[in-house]
Amino acid sequence: MEENKSAGQLLNEKLTYKSKNIWENSNEDEKKLAFQFCEGYKQFLDRAKTEREFTSEAVRKAEENGFISIDSLELEAKLKPGAKVYQVNRNKSIILGVIGRSGLETGVNIVGAHIDSPRVDLKQNPIYEDTGMVLLKTHYYGGIKKYQWVTIPLAMHGVIVKTAGEIVDVKIGEDESDPVFTITDLLPHLAQDQMQKKMMDAITGEGLNILTGSIPSEDDKVKERVKFNILKILNERYKITEEDFISAELEIVPAFKAKDVGIDRSFVGAYGQDDRVCSYGALDAILQVNNVEKTAVCYLSDKEEVGSMGNTGAQSAFLENFLAKLMYIGNKKYNDIMLRSCLSKSKMLSADVNSGVDPNYEGVQDKRNASFMGKGLVLQKYTGSRGKVGGSEANAEFIAELRKIFNANNIIWQTGEIGKVDLGGGGTIAQFLANIGVEVIDCGVAVLSMHSPFEITSKIDIYIMNKAYKVFYQEMK
Ligand code: MN
Ligand code: MN
Repeated sequence: MEENKSAGQLLNEKLTYKSKNIWENSNEDEKKLAFQFCEGYKQFLDRAKTEREFTSEAVRKAEENGFISIDSLELEAKLKPGAKVYQVNRNKSIILGVIGRSGLETGVNIVGAHIDSPRVDLKQNPIYEDTGMVLLKTHYYGGIKKYQWVTIPLAMHGVIVKTAGEIVDVKIGEDESDPVFTITDLLPHLAQDQMQKKMMDAITGEGLNILTGSIPSEDDKVKERVKFNILKILNERYKITEEDFISAELEIVPAFKAKDVGIDRSFVGAYGQDDRVCSYGALDAILQVNNVEKTAVCYLSDKEEVGSMGNTGAQSAFLENFLAKLMYIGNKKYNDIMLRSCLSKSKMLSADVNSGVDPNYEGVQDKRNASFMGKGLVLQKYTGSRGKVGGSEANAEFIAELRKIFNANNIIWQTGEIGKVDLGGGGTIAQFLANIGVEVIDCGVAVLSMHSPFEITSKIDIYIMNKAYKVFYQEMK
């Protein structure tokens, strides 16, 4: 009871920083909204397990919401405040924008996330036959714990591009009637040597071969009849030959669907939530932006899990090229100084996940500075490891601005860092945008089992994160 508190207690409450559990601080309506939002999220996850699928789903949703491709616009076109545009980069990355009332030279508000996730990629010459079985060679992508990827049902997603330019879409293992793939593991009875090994060596990268078939072709004059049979099936189904795999991008991902986790259904369990949880939240937020002072931009990038390299990663010129074209369309007196000014006055939430405290693995975090499931949006001032090396650090001035707008709009947030100082760490896309002058902070939700085939997030955190991104677009000056 308020009146029974001593003056000291009341002052102490005022002076002390405490994070809040959102479930405790939400009413029934908000909880319902959080659950509803996550129904849409789970369905989206099942449709968008790869960066290409995310991009095409994002285009579909963008067009449904009145966005037009800037590649379809003439340079002579005019864009009024409120106009909604998007641009796709090589089918793997997309930027969406809603034109604000003030000119682009005054900076834009960006929410940036990545839409690639750790997985297992097929090699370019993958198919081989051994002991009457056909397997596919792979090279994993991003930071996986290899032992997590054996003995689970796997699906194949991706494209095979033929020399005539035709793109064959492949998706096997998602339909109830589809077969799935798997990587086998050794039976415990024979695993004495394997079990003595370090976890990182027990399953090797070169050993992640995908079980794919075992029926030999009837023609016994052919060598490797099982492989021949598989090639025949592929040729009938996709009109491809073995050489076509060399110009293919085929990704092996878990075959299971997103699920509620827990008797109270408070968590979402799914593959690829790093970083589709924030990507989805950011995409949903920009789709709802209508009338903003600063131009709102949603940047969904590829290749973050391997360092944001290449022309689809956040180290590419994609964002600058997009803004340059937008500026030229808005003002035909466009010059480079205007673009540089736009970048250095822009602000960005690097929307990525944080490692939540896990009661099963307590020793790895400083609980005073770690993020917790259900305690809201995570504001992570810095990334990097062992002396903040290799990361990006947000400026205190920017964090103060964010605290102000989030506190004023009932966004429950917490601070976070990846783990104990000398233990390890990581980076996000933040540093690459910071390098070109943008004010950036890492800002997303806490995750358990990050980079595993089945990552865990809290529904209430997801709901708050989406709300926070909308507030950022509306309120950030
Ligand atoms: Mn991430
Ligand atoms: Mn990651």
